[in-house]
Amino acid sequence: MNIVELQQVGKHYQGVEALNSIDLSLQQGEVLGLFGHNGAGKTTTIKLILGLIKPTAGQVRVFGEDPTGDNAYQLRRQLGFLQENVSFYQQMTGREVLRYFAKLKGCDKKQVSDLLEEVGLDHAAMRRVKTYSKGMRQRLGLAQALLGQPKLLLLDEPTVGLDPIATQDFYHGIAKLKAQGSTIILCSHVLAGVEKYIDRALILGQGHLLAEGSLATLTEKTDLPVTFSLQGSNLQLPIDLQANSSAINGGYKVQVSQQQKMATLQQLLAISSLENIDIHMPSLEDIYTHYMNDVQHGEHA
Ligand code: ATP
Repeated sequence: MNIVELQQVGKHYQGVEALNSIDLSLQQGEVLGLFGHNGAGKTTTIKLILGLIKPTAGQVRVFGEDPTGDNAYQLRRQLGFLQENVSFYQQMTGREVLRYFAKLKGCDKKQVSDLLEEVGLDHAAMRRVKTYSKGMRQRLGLAQALLGQPKLLLLDEPTVGLDPIATQDFYHGIAKLKAQGSTIILCSHVLAGVEKYIDRALILGQGHLLAEGSLATLTEKTDLPVTFSLQGSNLQLPIDLQANSSAINGGYKVQVSQQQKMATLQQLLAISSLENIDIHMPSLEDIYTHYMNDVQHGEHA
């Protein structure tokens, strides 16, 4: 059984076509990165999976059931959700907030201490939330999402407000949850650093599915070039590479197709005046930009 299944899902708000013919299936233990520009339809997708709204077309199934159906209450106990810009009751301590949510979710309060420790907030557990920094509130939000060991986690901009080390810690946490069998949907505008931790990416543009697949699949599909940055005094490039090169910072930038990568590398390493070489493979950011350029040129419709 797929944990999440969207079949030809559409969502219209008054006058706005927020989502159009979206297909998605997620299996247990998969981590999906959900990406798109502002207003692309990411939050709408999350709300549909949470059962907060109904689709106007198609079908949404979570653990094989309609998330807005009669059994939705039971189903939601298996879900964890961290919303964008999370906010809590300012006068309560971190521990009180978590104990409150544990009660609402009907899960064991004993988890609270462990979760506070896991997100690095045990030292501040007895402090009121109003004294927390943005990153601390975000960590508390993550602890709240992890209450009840959810089988499906939906995280909207989870690393906003986290410093680089905390962001790394967060992604390590994601890897750990995945290893324990959790299925995770991760929405983010910050693409750098995400790619290592997701199995697949789904890119939305103006409510349409622009691309879906593993990074390897999308790299192959987009056929974006490999970039070599070369430094050296009096560098002379082989004639056949000159057409693909441009001068940068006293050196050269050479772009070739992924198929030509190894042959080009061998050619470049044979240049005696070459002093340094950097190789840039297409990143998730490059792939995202490629599809967003298509949206701007109206090529998705
Ligand atoms: P962001 O990255 O800015 O959070 P998003 O990808 O999450 O954007 P959505 O919030 O899903 O985008 O919105 C998709 C579209 O639907 C937008 O055009 C938005 O204005 C519209 N929309 C969302 N909710 C409503 C609503 N309740 N009523 C009318 N339009 C809505």
